[in-house]
Amino acid sequence: MIGENIRTILTELPSGVSLVAVSKFHPVEALMEAYRAGQRLFGENRPQELFAKVPLMPPDTRWHFIGHLQTNKLKMVLPYVVMVQSVDSVHLLQSINSWCLSAGKVMDVLLELHLGAEQTKHGLTEAGIREILSDEWPGVRFRGLMGMATNTDDQDVVRADFRRISALFRALREDYPGLEAFDQLSIGMSGDWRLAVAEGSTIVRIGTSIFGEREY
Ligand SMILES: *Cc1c(COP(=O)(O)O)cnc(C)c1O
Repeated sequence: MIGENIRTILTELPSGVSLVAVSKFHPVEALMEAYRAGQRLFGENRPQELFAKVPLMPPDTRWHFIGHLQTNKLKMVLPYVVMVQSVDSVHLLQSINSWCLSAGKVMDVLLELHLGAEQTKHGLTEAGIREILSDEWPGVRFRGLMGMATNTDDQDVVRADFRRISALFRALREDYPGLEAFDQLSIGMSGDWRLAVAEGSTIVRIGTSIFGEREY
């Protein structure tokens, strides 16, 4: 089932768009089913859960952190992930930057734009993002933007959210040409990833459509 779900999504996903299998709340057996279907990239949103799952998965599994991250939890996350998608404050960015400098690492990050989605109060404003990008952060590499659309069935509202973040993404690429790796836009989840891809998403974060409903 899980393998079939992944194959179905991959046949529709344009090449060049990455699939993050969002495995939060699902047991490692479910992740292994995805792994056996060829999936290597997984997304988790809670430090403790990520930390517990990492040693149980094969070493070539790659992880993105996609949830709100408290700075006292960095050591449970940063050694294990290839990207933090959810940088939602300057304070968090400063902490990641310092941690990476002392670890001799550079972390790929996405800046999370607050799109007005009511399910999360977290995220940066456009002005906040521009201020960040005007500074020097030797411990991080800015890869792009992440955002969550308003939680609604109204496709027009979702499309408008996606257009807004996509337009900002393109504007930032023009305004900050020094950011050579700023090429990723992470929008789109189970309910809206086709729309996200149509609006320029390069990463989709899909949980329910792969693993089924989560039991909280
Ligand atoms: C849970 C989660 C997802 C996946 O949501 P689905 O609707 O299950 O696909 C995507 N992004 C973030 C940030 C999440 O927390």
